Amino acid sequence: MQRLCLLHFLKLHRIWTLRQGRALSSAVPAVYDVVISGGGMVGSAMACALGSDPNLRHKKILLLEAGHRKAFDCLPEIFSNRVSSITPGSAALLASFGAWDLILAMRFKPFKRMQVWDACSDALITFDKDAMEDMGYIVENDVIISALTQQLDSLSKRVEVLYRSRVLDYKWPPPYNNGEASPWVEIELSDGQKLHTRLLIGADGHNSMVRSSAGMQTVQWGYNHVAIVATLHLSEATDNNVSWQRFLPSGPIALLPLSDTCSSLVWSTSPEHASQLVNMDEESFVDTVNSAFWSNENHSEFITSAGSLLHSALSFFTPSGTSARQLPPSVARVEKNSRAAFPLGLRHATEYIRHRVALIGYYM
Ligand SMILES: Cc1cc2nc3c(=O)[nH]c(=O)nc-3n(C[C@H](O)[C@H](O)[C@H](O)COP(=O)(O)OP(=O)(O)OC[C@H]3O[C@@H](n4cnc5c(N)ncnc54)[C@H](O)[C@@H]3O)c2cc1C
Repeated sequence: MQRLCLLHFLKLHRIWTLRQGRALSSAVPAVYDVVISGGGMVGSAMACALGSDPNLRHKKILLLEAGHRKAFDCLPEIFSNRVSSITPGSAALLASFGAWDLILAMRFKPFKRMQVWDACSDALITFDKDAMEDMGYIVENDVIISALTQQLDSLSKRVEVLYRSRVLDYKWPPPYNNGEASPWVEIELSDGQKLHTRLLIGADGHNSMVRSSAGMQTVQWGYNHVAIVATLHLSEATDNNVSWQRFLPSGPIALLPLSDTCSSLVWSTSPEHASQLVNMDEESFVDTVNSAFWSNENHSEFITSAGSLLHSALSFFTPSGTSARQLPPSVARVEKNSRAAFPLGLRHATEYIRHRVALIGYYM
């Protein structure tokens, strides 16, 4: 009984001491050189880049992320429906701080060619690379995040990362300090902790609280279009190293390679059509996707002749290349529960840099 009481006391004492510690730390906020708010693809990549820069080795850098730590112990068998097309330039950036090798060790698919063609005419444009070169890479967003998270683990002496840390409020220093107010940006976290930073980098996504709290305006409008994404299984294995995009009267549809047998779909269309596509049964969905890539029902002789006329006029000024038309792969089935819809729009901040704050990443 006595032992139990002692244990209880020790436990209470520990809780009290921890609370005191927290109270002390919030009374004297830590001062960072750089705080990055938001650990998505963009914020995590920025944290890796700053943490790997030898010129910044004495700087105190912190990454704050509201969500939990996201790194794979074991790669899921099924492809995620959220993917990004990575240019060789972006791959070089990721390689510069060691994340690209981690992506290569997980999952990625290079593509060597792009074919973009019209559903109403014979118009076609292709972009090719030499057999040895890659035009770009399709990588799942979760794989990119996992690689960046692992890289941040290895930079833990240079970059502090706080997961499950949501920012509740920012207080901005006056541009011309009279010496009374704090000269730094003050950050209040949801657990009551307060931090100060010389530079705040807002990487907190399209509804950025950093942007709204700093009073930076946006220019924005909706496209009245919705992107349908899905993971598709092809009818047969191929090299699958071409990115396909066809312009339909309702909007563009794209098939991006994920592996020799799988591709990722991004279909931009009207909200009504998008809702039909998400809700129709799997078999009808696959038929609709195949017909969107293969059917010539929207072909118009008038548009084809007008296109040929324009093409001959333009070829007078620019030498015309010969680009061979290829046939896209046919789709056999859609991965269960992989269909999702994202409304599309444009959003730009009217400013990206202000006194002690910079915005990066997704503002469109
Ligand atoms: C269908 C589709 C296809 C796309 N394809 C491409 C493509 O091919 N290539 C491309 O470049 N882009 C593409 N995009 C856009 C791309 O997804 C976004 O640009 C990108 O995900 C934005 O990343 P981010 O890190 O800026 O923001 P987010 O991924 O939104 O990350 C923001 C992070 O900030 C955290 N956060 C937010 N508020 C707080 C807070 N108060 N405190 C702490 N943390 C906070 C969130 O938890 C989140 O982790 C596509 C988008 C869609 C919808």
